[in-house]
Amino acid sequence: MAVDPFAAQRAEMVTRQIEQRGVTDPRLLEAMRSVPRHVFVPEDQRFMAYDDCPLAIGSGQTISQPYIVALMTNLLHLQGEENVLEIGTGSGYQAAVLSHLARFVHTVERFAALAVGARRLLKALHCKNVSVRTGDGTLGWPAAAPYQSILVTAAAPAPPPPLLAQLADGGRLVLPVGGRGGQILQVWQRQGDAYSHEDVSYVAFVPLRGAHGWNEVNWDY
Ligand code: SAH
Repeated sequence: MAVDPFAAQRAEMVTRQIEQRGVTDPRLLEAMRSVPRHVFVPEDQRFMAYDDCPLAIGSGQTISQPYIVALMTNLLHLQGEENVLEIGTGSGYQAAVLSHLARFVHTVERFAALAVGARRLLKALHCKNVSVRTGDGTLGWPAAAPYQSILVTAAAPAPPPPLLAQLADGGRLVLPVGGRGGQILQVWQRQGDAYSHEDVSYVAFVPLRGAHGWNEVNWDY
């Protein structure tokens, strides 16, 4: 395999931005050490691929800050056997990280152009346990449910009911809830027909659009 010119930057990203901020799961740290984040960002931004910030990926969307990817993934408590649903494929980077930590990853993206790009990159990286679909992720992906873990990487007005319904008993849903001014990262857990949630931290995401998301008008309020 060719030498990765970004390997040192990536190792430093994991140590300084993730491990030193308290994320210690060795499987997660290893996944983030191995997924080449720079291939998921546009070429003119590669020099910033391992910086401590989100980056633009086209279609007005962003690839999340590395620490946020780690924080959200950590909250899913993945052991390796989960069927995972991600809403908001974007670049495909988060899906690639998840693919190292779970049995299978189903991921839904609203913009076809982003879904096509993500599918191509995930294939090139031999992430065989990921399936990318274009559509409204607020409706989930019913055919492959239930999911032990669901991750939403865009800001929702509230947990979309179809996602709560597609969560397996004992499963965990991680998502940012709130509007344009900022959101709270929440973890929802299902026990039978009962759902409980906890707030984790303040975050800033692009809006989740769609049937159970924001529309062009109300995101502005
Ligand atoms: N996880 C991505 C970052 C995603 S940014 C990564 O690792 O790069 C949020 C993404 O959610 C955007 O690509 C946006 O187009 C998408 N999105 C917004 N509403 C959506 C919906 N209803 N269904 C699917 N994707 C949606």
